Amino acid sequence: MKRILSLLIIAGYYLLACQGNTPLPDNRSTQQQTVSNPNQTAGGQNVLSNTNGSIPEVFKQFNASLQIYTEGNFVVIKSNGLPDHKTPYYKDTQWASTMYEAYNGTNARFNLNPNRIASQNLTFKIPVNPVKASNTTATPLGPIGVSLNGVPFFNQYAAQRAPLTNEINSFDQYNGHPQQQGQYHYHVEPTYLTAKKGKDVLLGFLLDGFPVYGPTENGKTVSNSDLDAFHGHSHATKDYPNGIYHYHITSTDPYINGNGFYGSPGTVSQ
Ligand SMILES: [Zn+2]
Ligand SMILES: [Zn+2]
Repeated sequence: MKRILSLLIIAGYYLLACQGNTPLPDNRSTQQQTVSNPNQTAGGQNVLSNTNGSIPEVFKQFNASLQIYTEGNFVVIKSNGLPDHKTPYYKDTQWASTMYEAYNGTNARFNLNPNRIASQNLTFKIPVNPVKASNTTATPLGPIGVSLNGVPFFNQYAAQRAPLTNEINSFDQYNGHPQQQGQYHYHVEPTYLTAKKGKDVLLGFLLDGFPVYGPTENGKTVSNSDLDAFHGHSHATKDYPNGIYHYHITSTDPYINGNGFYGSPGTVSQ
């Protein structure tokens, strides 16, 4: 399993490095791929359903459109990765034309990257009972976790582990953007979710099974200095009254995760 994970990480490094500002080598092939797959729908209306009543209660906060079940000591979350909110990155995608919305955010330097959203086959397998790792590992490029609407979380780096400085200008009005394979993702606060659910609530999980919370807590904005090197801390939350280690999303780099996974990561296949 470790070998598979390393292969995935290596593959992710080469295939999924987020190069939001680099034009696709062949933009047409992605267009054809999306059009030739008419069964995919945007807006969380995929055909999968939340089938298993035995999943821990907290996982029922995921969008009902995702398929979630337990497998041994893991929770399996399957997602097509399509955002359930409008975005300019649905531009020219006939199958999702009703989800297109021109950029209406506040970044004067916004620059639509050349990638367009495509349906994914993401399978996250994360520990049901996360534990601190004795040897912590860095997060890979590509998905490092999953938010409640099934969109993956990415880390604080662009390709070659460069800072996100340029990439940020391609984040849409909900702070997401697609990479070259059309995989939409959030490196920073998913503002559609925080506007809908609140800024002090559970927003998803990283691959190690530890939960990710929003940028405020007890009425205060969480800052990086409130958190440890992995970008989290431990205390009781509404979802975990007995206390749990959890990450917080902050408004400054490294945003979601710091020096890697606090726990032992599960896997993601795509
Ligand atoms: Zn990115
Ligand atoms: Zn906290």
